Amino acid sequence: MADGGPVEHGFPHLETVRAAVTALYRRLSYDTVQQFATSVPPADVAFCDTDDLHLGAQRVARELVRHFRLPDARMVVAFREMQHAANVELTAGPEYFVELNDRFRGHRRDIGAALAHEIMHVYLHRVDLSFPGTRDNEILTDTATTYLGAGWLLLDAYREDGASSQKLGYLTPEEFGYVLAKRSLAFGEDPSLWFTSAQAYTAYERGLERARLDERQPPLTAAGWTGRRRYARDRRQAQGHGQGRGHGSAGNAGAGDVPYAFAADPAAGPLRVTFPCPTCHQRIRVPVRGRVRARCGLCRTVLECDT
Ligand SMILES: [Zn+2]
Ligand SMILES: [Zn+2]
Repeated sequence: MADGGPVEHGFPHLETVRAAVTALYRRLSYDTVQQFATSVPPADVAFCDTDDLHLGAQRVARELVRHFRLPDARMVVAFREMQHAANVELTAGPEYFVELNDRFRGHRRDIGAALAHEIMHVYLHRVDLSFPGTRDNEILTDTATTYLGAGWLLLDAYREDGASSQKLGYLTPEEFGYVLAKRSLAFGEDPSLWFTSAQAYTAYERGLERARLDERQPPLTAAGWTGRRRYARDRRQAQGHGQGRGHGSAGNAGAGDVPYAFAADPAAGPLRVTFPCPTCHQRIRVPVRGRVRARCGLCRTVLECDT
């Protein structure tokens, strides 16, 4: 786990984050993801500066191991001087050696966040899910930690004041907020009460806005007027040419590229539209014929569409 350097903001890793959510549902299945409908509660991972360092770290590690349902895994936590924030050795187990940067001796309340990320490495190693390349694999790890209920700790470790800033993990604060919001929308859970960091709360709100935008893209019926108008225009064009793709106004940040695409059936069948599921981002394909109700096969979200 990396740390240090100026804090990056916004949504630069959104594509990989979304791919990570899809990969998680594919690898774990809907039923397994549902087992994580409740986040790890703050009381279970609280760590204050008067707690014994080693006993406290072991206790929090045990709680996280329990939360992630790794019954036979044992974390051995040690502190040492190192460049990174934390590290874990991925072996066959059942014992795993987690190293935390010495500076956590003086920042005990962030130990839970660092452990959550490292223990998720073990979890993903065990279910044999990884993305190629360190950057993408770390984004997968942060996304999985958050989607499976322990990432609010990572976001809460983000603090900024005039003189200093601190953030853990590879996602920006807003991206942590986004994944946390997607989780809260999927499971009906409100994490906003758990933040001790004001900046974390703000980042969560930004992420929530972005996550709600995913639910208001055409052809979903919840799409706004502007989106629907552009969709109708793109559809007319697609019908005229047999196939085609919606054209977003390139360079127009935020509202940029449209997420849907039209395609005619190869056997000269009816026109279809594909778009990402707002919950898991797997692509959904439905026929273009007005009102359609679809159900995502991966995350089982029911999608009301006006195609
Ligand atoms: Zn890592
Ligand atoms: Zn889905």
